[in-house]
Amino acid sequence: MYLLILGHDIHFHDKKIALLEAGPGKEYDHMPDTYSNRVSSVSPGSATLLSSFGAWDHVCSLRLKPFRRMQVWDACSEAMIVFEKDDLDDMGYIVENDVIMSALTKQLNAVADRVEVFYRSRAVGYTWPLPSHSCDTSPWVQIELSDGRRLQTKLLIGADGHNSVVRKEAEIKNIEHRYDQSAVVATLHLSEATDNNVAWQRFLPTGPIALLPLSDTASSLVWSTSHEHASELLAMDEESFVDSINSAFWSNVNHSDFIDTAGAMFRSAISLLKPSGTAVRQLPPSVAKVDPESRAMFPLGMGHATQYVQHRVALIGDAAHRVHPLAGQGVNLGFGDIACLAHHLSAAAFNGRDLGSLKHLLKFETERQRHNVSLIAATDMLKRLYSTRLAPLVLLRTWGLQATNALPPVKEQIMAFASK
Ligand SMILES: Cc1cc2nc3c(=O)[nH]c(=O)nc-3n(C[C@H](O)[C@H](O)[C@H](O)COP(=O)(O)OP(=O)(O)OC[C@H]3O[C@@H](n4cnc5c(N)ncnc54)[C@H](O)[C@@H]3O)c2cc1C
Repeated sequence: MYLLILGHDIHFHDKKIALLEAGPGKEYDHMPDTYSNRVSSVSPGSATLLSSFGAWDHVCSLRLKPFRRMQVWDACSEAMIVFEKDDLDDMGYIVENDVIMSALTKQLNAVADRVEVFYRSRAVGYTWPLPSHSCDTSPWVQIELSDGRRLQTKLLIGADGHNSVVRKEAEIKNIEHRYDQSAVVATLHLSEATDNNVAWQRFLPTGPIALLPLSDTASSLVWSTSHEHASELLAMDEESFVDSINSAFWSNVNHSDFIDTAGAMFRSAISLLKPSGTAVRQLPPSVAKVDPESRAMFPLGMGHATQYVQHRVALIGDAAHRVHPLAGQGVNLGFGDIACLAHHLSAAAFNGRDLGSLKHLLKFETERQRHNVSLIAATDMLKRLYSTRLAPLVLLRTWGLQATNALPPVKEQIMAFASK
């Protein structure tokens, strides 16, 4: 769906774009009453990108929930960090994945003359052309669909998810690691109506639990935990499930006197040096109910393709990189990829160049790897740092989080990076 952006680019007016989607089309005029359990935290940068070709208006007309503050805290200490905007700007938006898909599908109709969409069409095989300096000068990548049809293109963009067949068939190496965690998702109802404009995340030793606002009374759960615990959470009755969530947010069972004292001393030392830098702790809402049938679990992993491009091939989105959901950045990285790729392809099209040439594809790769690698590495480090109860490490991260929370310029830099 990312490729829709190319269809809106003026320099692509004489190009034909085919979009292959293994699943069915999804388009809603009205959203169902119940929320989907698959949601994404969409950054302001991604929202601006979607606005640039009209899709954000559709998102707004369907359903979204802006949030103004993000509170992240450690279950093993009092350490926390709060991100919020001084002005009234939104920090991000919680949007159901179905809403994003529907908005993109609607906008596809506007460029139907340039972008042909093949739903329920799975690509099963690819034949690659030889590099441009070889004797065989055929510029076409051949694509075979599961129903036997064949297509050919001068540039294949692989946006086929973390198990990307394009990546595998192009023999691009992927550095990958399966985490010892699965994410449990669910739609939750709060005990009482609130502004509900805060995204909450608490780092438990077994993994982070996040509560993302959907409306004044509903929130979405993303709870990363051991595979065994995730299965237990799915199997439990609704009341026990809700109790487990409330206790995960509220219980201090993982605290120790030593860490609490050392943390308190460090915090007061910081507040003496910089009294204005610390933010007020808010209490998360309590959960009353879970939507029946909304519980599901997904195994988690990280991955990064060593190359994003080859002659006539580019990888974007999860096909190129997979991150832990604790950073809420997967979809945003994908939007960043396509914005960057579209920029370089647009320049190439304007100059009448071959779109599949490595020359401009490499510019895309360099630019995006520079951005993505640091985010993937930071996310992976956070996952590891918070997966331990070892006192020296807990103390280190407690002081680190407290110091970061007290330094507005550092927090602003983090927010600026995450809002792209
Ligand atoms: C529990 C959980 C919570 C998350 N929360 C967030 C969040 O808050 N914010 C955020 O930004 N990200 C989040 N993510 C990550 C986000 O969901 C992914 O990064 C994002 O979905 C990747 O999009 P994609 O289009 O690259 O891949 P996918 O969503 O995997 O889409 C790939 C598409 O390619 C199609 N396809 C695959 N193979 C073929 C083929 N052979 N032929 C034709 N079509 C094919 C599929 O049908 C699919 O539509 C979360 C992930 C998980 C697991």
